[in-house]
Amino acid sequence: MTRKMEVPVQDFKALGASLGIELLVQRDDLLPFPLAGNKVRKVFAEIRNLAAMPDVLITNGGVDSNHCRTTAMIGALRGFRVHLVLHGDPTREVSDSKSLEMLNLLGATSQVVLPQDIRGAIDGALTRFRASGLACHVIAGGCHTPAGALSYRDAGLPVFNKLRPDFVFVASGTGATQGGLVAAAERAVSRPQVVGISVARTAERGIDAVKEAAAWAGAANAGIIFDDGYRSNGYGQSDELTWEAVQLGWRHGLPLDPTYTGKAFAGLLEYSRRGMLANRRVLFWHTGGLWNYLASEAMPSPSGHSKDMA
Ligand SMILES: *Cc1c(COP(=O)(O)O)cnc(C)c1O
Repeated sequence: MTRKMEVPVQDFKALGASLGIELLVQRDDLLPFPLAGNKVRKVFAEIRNLAAMPDVLITNGGVDSNHCRTTAMIGALRGFRVHLVLHGDPTREVSDSKSLEMLNLLGATSQVVLPQDIRGAIDGALTRFRASGLACHVIAGGCHTPAGALSYRDAGLPVFNKLRPDFVFVASGTGATQGGLVAAAERAVSRPQVVGISVARTAERGIDAVKEAAAWAGAANAGIIFDDGYRSNGYGQSDELTWEAVQLGWRHGLPLDPTYTGKAFAGLLEYSRRGMLANRRVLFWHTGGLWNYLASEAMPSPSGHSKDMA
């Protein structure tokens, strides 16, 4: 089965005009896949790249990880067994989590371990499955892999050449998506600047991973922009600006979430307010995250009043 990975690029005219830019949005949240986002391109590319089909895919991530969800979904579709090593506190009850329930519904097996035990848990699972004669493939967390990065070079290049943007904004976590887009930008006619807005890591910690991914995707001399100014206090944390961006997006019919795309859009918003994007063509590369919006805490009310007082 070959999968068409085509999505619309939409011109958000009114929203762009309000920011003094031309705003185009690449809708990877609309890839033809449940709860779509960038993991769909990355994980399919990772599997396509394998010499032989495994019996079991093993990977790791948070219980709310889009990477784990997507891998479990692909496993269910393709008939792979998926085993997930989930980061968390194994002593805490997580069975009320809707995310975990869905992973179970998809037939994935999982174990919850402390961050320092992830490596050992993956090795242990490998040993167990192999002892029963099953062929395994381990996917790095977040699908931060050469195939994952290359999938974004291949996705980015035709889009950049068609639209010729000046800037590309993308939410950057492990950096594979941004790294791929950087490699695409280097080959593209308009050579857009790819601005990765960190959703979690400080620049000090994150930039090497983006560089690594850019090199995997064949970037020759990657000038990486990895801006950690919109990460709030890290992964899953949000602030007023994040929510302002989320609100602005939804108001114009663009679903954003406070974990990923809201931060990337907050960066775009601030760059435009500082006049750094005036009259330029800006491509916002939407990476998904709808489930993260649904699973997020209620939006803080701007007036400071609690909801029941309003
Ligand atoms: C995983 C994810 C990202 C980050 O992608 P990386 O390739 O790890 O940088 C961005 N947005 C969403 C919605 C994601 O799920």
